[in-house]
Amino acid sequence: MSDDTPPWESKPAKQEALYIHWCMHEGCKKWGSWGFNGRYGVEWFCFEHKDDGAKTPK
Ligand SMILES: [Zn+2]
Repeated sequence: MSDDTPPWESKPAKQEALYIHWCMHEGCKKWGSWGFNGRYGVEWFCFEHKDDGAKTPK
């Protein structure tokens, strides 16, 4: 029993666009599970880069 299944793998393909959002940090290919209200809408970052979003000036 593994709990490693990424969240997107259990979602219907139809809904992928709504749920898949990668970390917006340049060069980062991780899953962006942290959302921040940025200047141009919601910006997503992984745990490692969530400070990037938190620092975004409003
Ligand atoms: Zn990242």
